[in-house]
Amino acid sequence: MGRAFVYVILGGGVAAGYAALEFSNRGVSHGELCIISEESVAPYERPALSKGYLLPEGIELVLGTRVISADVRRRTLLTAAGETISYKILIVATGARALKLEEFGVNGSDAENVCYLRDLTDANRLVDVMRSSSGGNAVVIGGGYIGMECAASLVINKINVTMVFPEAQCMPRLFTPKIASFYEDYYKSKGVEFVKGTALSSFDMDADGKVVAVNLRDGKRLLVDMVVVGIGIRPNTSLFEGQLTLEKGGIKVNEKMQSSNSSVYAVGDVAAFPVKLFGETRRLEHVDSARKCARHAVAAIMEPEKSGEFDYVPFFYSRIFALSWQFYGDNVGEVVHFGDFSGNTFGAYWVNKGHLVGSFLEGGTKEEYAAIAMVTSLKPAIEDLAELESRGLSYAMAVSRKPPPPSQITNVGDSGPSLVLEKPVYPWHATAGVILAGSIAAFAYWYGRRRRRW
Ligand SMILES: Cc1cc2nc3c(=O)[nH]c(=O)nc-3n(C[C@H](O)[C@H](O)[C@H](O)COP(=O)(O)OP(=O)(O)OC[C@H]3O[C@@H](n4cnc5c(N)ncnc54)[C@H](O)[C@@H]3O)c2cc1C
Repeated sequence: MGRAFVYVILGGGVAAGYAALEFSNRGVSHGELCIISEESVAPYERPALSKGYLLPEGIELVLGTRVISADVRRRTLLTAAGETISYKILIVATGARALKLEEFGVNGSDAENVCYLRDLTDANRLVDVMRSSSGGNAVVIGGGYIGMECAASLVINKINVTMVFPEAQCMPRLFTPKIASFYEDYYKSKGVEFVKGTALSSFDMDADGKVVAVNLRDGKRLLVDMVVVGIGIRPNTSLFEGQLTLEKGGIKVNEKMQSSNSSVYAVGDVAAFPVKLFGETRRLEHVDSARKCARHAVAAIMEPEKSGEFDYVPFFYSRIFALSWQFYGDNVGEVVHFGDFSGNTFGAYWVNKGHLVGSFLEGGTKEEYAAIAMVTSLKPAIEDLAELESRGLSYAMAVSRKPPPPSQITNVGDSGPSLVLEKPVYPWHATAGVILAGSIAAFAYWYGRRRRRW
């Protein structure tokens, strides 16, 4: 028994939703397109978990259905219910799953007060546990995106938070020590405690199987009412291992998001695609990239002759408490900090091999964020780091007001003196150039009305 479609999207998250919208905008015929998702709801905006479903009409929606195997040679998918679904073109948008504590040798993930955050089911559960822990103590394991944003959310909801992570600072894959120190101080001012340089070793449970204390490798024991775990994600590639080429932990695709099998495209967190700005293949775990590469894949499928190469400047952001930052590009090379780290607006540029390749800004205006996005995409040559530091944000603003012609992008700007390379301010080498995804906005319906939509 089975069904056949021209286009099948496997996965029901952000990339799937945006791919479906793009198919719809381009006039896919009724019944041609099918989405298969393990989740019981239509694709939604994951960062906000806003229940703003992304699904257009005329699409066959196969929900609550896990695909258990794929045969790319025969162009078929087998669901857990035993149905075979065939396709002419498949878009793999299976995203990633949250890493579990058990994968690091600690048991207890299934305790009722231990929470993860990847999808709507997780978010609903987390809110329930948070409600029952009001006024109590939470330990947040992990200092990345999910950890930071969940910690803020817990504090807002009057829960005492201790963050535990093995690194020396929060957001180690993106933040410099100076930037991390700003956010940690801010969190401390909100009552968050940090236990750094150690990791979880075990849980103490009560007779009902609820975690009552967290034991750390350094010997500390923290009493808890709840635990939130944000220790990273792993792309869902297993259906295609041995059938498609994999790279950087994801499905390798070309500039049209097409995999090593011409009938299969991959988008979102599961896709490793060529990032022209970096001159290499990267897998990004961010919503902007998921949205844009999904649209690009559909354009490449439906109008191959018109769609060019996917030319993407990596972009990610977060909003925590009253703070808000954006990052563009890559965090490799020397770092130049700028602005007032004791005030509201500050940032950093990354300069690699003489070119500006990354920009970070906290507390910017719309115009300022647009300026750092533009300057990063232009990749201008930077000869004098001290001069760049002293010009700070005004450098990006000047370049964005009057971008140099492509032939002169090797100049540092239109108004400054020629900049001569001096000593590096701070060497920063990102291991993957990407950061883990996460968001307090997962609690949108808990306190979402206080916040802007993303
Ligand atoms: C809580 C949270 C907050 C975030 N906040 C931000 C943010 O502020 N900024 C930012 O840049 N990024 C953020 N991200 C990251 C961003 O949401 C992801 O990059 C994005 O969701 C990736 O989209 P995707 O479609 O590739 O994967 P997903 O959205 O994870 O979707 C994958 C889908 O595939 C389905 N699936 C997987 N395997 C199967 C199978 N075998 N059969 C059927 N269905 C399957 C899953 O059920 C799911 O529906 C956040 C992520 C989370 C979890």
